[in-house]
Amino acid sequence: MMNVSFNSLIPSENVSILAKELQNISGELVLKREDLLHPAISGNKFRKLKYNLQEAFILKRDTIVTFGGAFSNHIAAVAAAGKMTGLATVGYIRGEELENSYTYNTTLKYAAEHGMTLRFISREQYRHKDSEQFLEEISAQFPNAYILPEGGTNTLAVKGCEEILTPADSGFDYICTAVGTGGTLAGLIKASENTQHVIGYSALKGTFQKKVIATHTSKTNFTLKDTYCFGGYAKIDSELIRFMNNFKQETGILLDPVYTAKMLFGIFADLKKGVFPENSRILAIHTGGIQGISGMNKLLKKRSLPQIET
Ligand SMILES: *Cc1c(COP(=O)(O)O)cnc(C)c1O
Repeated sequence: MMNVSFNSLIPSENVSILAKELQNISGELVLKREDLLHPAISGNKFRKLKYNLQEAFILKRDTIVTFGGAFSNHIAAVAAAGKMTGLATVGYIRGEELENSYTYNTTLKYAAEHGMTLRFISREQYRHKDSEQFLEEISAQFPNAYILPEGGTNTLAVKGCEEILTPADSGFDYICTAVGTGGTLAGLIKASENTQHVIGYSALKGTFQKKVIATHTSKTNFTLKDTYCFGGYAKIDSELIRFMNNFKQETGILLDPVYTAKMLFGIFADLKKGVFPENSRILAIHTGGIQGISGMNKLLKKRSLPQIET
C-alpha cells in the first residue's frame, strides 16, 4: 500500500496518509512542505530570494526591480520581501490592459498593498524586457536598483534552491518538482546524489528549461517532462480541479493550480502507469504558490468551472 507522508522544514509533525488512488502501488511518496517554510514568502520563492536579497544589501541597493504576469507567485513574494526588509520594490507586469482593473486581481492587489510600484507594459514590451535597451531604461529610472529576472531565476536563486534538500533526503530514489523557469529544478539537481534521479514536471509546454539547467550544472541525473502541463501555463480543467479537491480532502493539504497540482497529478499518473519501479522512494517538493488560488477561483467562476476548495 502506498504511504503518503509529509515532512516540513518548519517544526511540524510528519503526517502519514494513505492515498486511496494508489492503494495497489508499493513504495513511498513523501511531500516536502516547502509551502510552510515562511508565512508570506512561500516555498521556492523564499529559496530563490534569500541570497539575492543578501546580495542587494551587500551592494547597498535600495530597490528591487522585477517582472511577472498577473498571477505571479514571484511578484507576490518580492513585494512581501521588500516590505519585510525595507527595500523598495517595482514590478513590471505583463499586460497594459490590467492597469485600470488590477485591484480586482488578488496577486497584484496584494503586491500593491505591500508597497510594490506596479508598471504595466504591453506584451510586446514585455517580450523585450531582458534587452539591453530596456534594462538601461530601468537603470535610468531606478539608478540604485537590483534587477531580478522573471521568476527570480539566476545563479544565486539556484544556490538557494540547493538548500531545499538536506542530508536526510539522500535516501530517496526520486526527487520531484514542478517546473517554471527551471531554477528550482537546477538547484535540486545540483544538490542531489548522483544515485538519485530528479524529475521536473513542467507547468508549461515544452522542455526549453533544459537550456537554463545546462548553464547551472553539467549533471544529467534528471528528466524534464511536460506531459502533465494541461495545455500550458496556468491552464487548468475540471479534471485537475477534481484531483486537487480530492487531494485536499484526503490529505488536508492544499495544492496550487499552476504548479504543484500538475506535478502531483503527474506523479500519481506515473505511479499508476508503472513509470516508477516497484518500491520506489519518492520525495515530491511542495513549492508553495497557494496565494494564486483565489485569483484562479475568480477565473473559474467566470468560466463556470468548479471552484478549488480551500
Ligand atoms: C515559481 C514556482 C515554481 C517554478 O519554479 P522555477 O524555479 O521557476 O522552475 C514551482 N512551484 C511554485 C509553487 C512556484 O511558485
